[in-house]
Amino acid sequence: MRIDLHTHSDRSDGTESPDRLVRRAHREGIDVLGLTDHDTTEGWDEAVCAARDVGLTLVRGIEVSCTFAGYGVHLLAYLPDPTYPPLVDELQRVLDGRNARLPATLDKLRRLGIEIDEDDVCEVAGETAAKGRPHVADALVGLGVVADRDEAFERYLGSRGPAYVHRYAADLETMIGTVRTAGGVSVLAHPWARRHDHSALDESGLARLRDQGLAGIEVDHEDHSPAARARLREIAGRLGLVVTGSSDNHGAGKSGHELGCNSTSPDQLQRLEDLAGEASAASGRRTPGVVRA
Ligand code: AMP
Ligand code: FE
Ligand code: FE
Ligand code: ZN
Repeated sequence: MRIDLHTHSDRSDGTESPDRLVRRAHREGIDVLGLTDHDTTEGWDEAVCAARDVGLTLVRGIEVSCTFAGYGVHLLAYLPDPTYPPLVDELQRVLDGRNARLPATLDKLRRLGIEIDEDDVCEVAGETAAKGRPHVADALVGLGVVADRDEAFERYLGSRGPAYVHRYAADLETMIGTVRTAGGVSVLAHPWARRHDHSALDESGLARLRDQGLAGIEVDHEDHSPAARARLREIAGRLGLVVTGSSDNHGAGKSGHELGCNSTSPDQLQRLEDLAGEASAASGRRTPGVVRA
């Protein structure tokens, strides 16, 4: 079984439509796919149609931009009711923050002598609901300023770069609660990724999050070293957290994150589904089930 629970389409910063992503996953031998665009459920319906068509099992999710102890962290929210008002409102706040950041980023680039306007970015961003730095990066590539997204982050857009602009993100602990009352289940994405500060996400931080309803942690991720994976796996075992593994595929937008490069074991997926089932029953919300192949 190849279970890949974290991928992006062009509804956020992936490069292919949900339809094409699902079809490619099927062709490449993925059995279970999680679609987890940043801060939006816009891709869900299209992915469901494609999954039913090709016979792929699909888990609908969202990778929510959050903050914890002053730092950015990503929370994978699986199977929540996408119409639950507190969730809808908070995602809208995050998307508003993305929209407000774009002109500020372009201003900074202009001051660095790089003329780029919002239309250039919107053109490459296509159908996305969640505009982000990767789209600005793509526009910079299009203008010949940098060779690829990585160079754009390194030189301009990364958190220490000269064109970095802060944006709003949801409070992590509140969001874990919101996902649960929306009938879904939460998994912390790449908690010890190299690019993030993760000093607050040590064992005691993770224990606190578990007590607030966190169900699992993404252990097997390309941004985790083998040593980090081993330690996170031990911590997950001690805390009773579900362990997932996934690619974080962004289509052509990120190299080294090929579909299925990491995967989740069937028993861990079953635990997530069971917990989501319990949350769904307790919430009384109409939640999106797993689409079965
Ligand atoms: P944003 O959502 O606009 O804050 O941009 C963050 C997103 O950019 C992350 O979720 C990644 O998908 C992507 N990203 C971050 N660093 C890099 C990098 N060095 N190269 C390519 N993509 C990156
Ligand atoms: Fe991304
Ligand atoms: Fe992420
Ligand atoms: Zn991601």
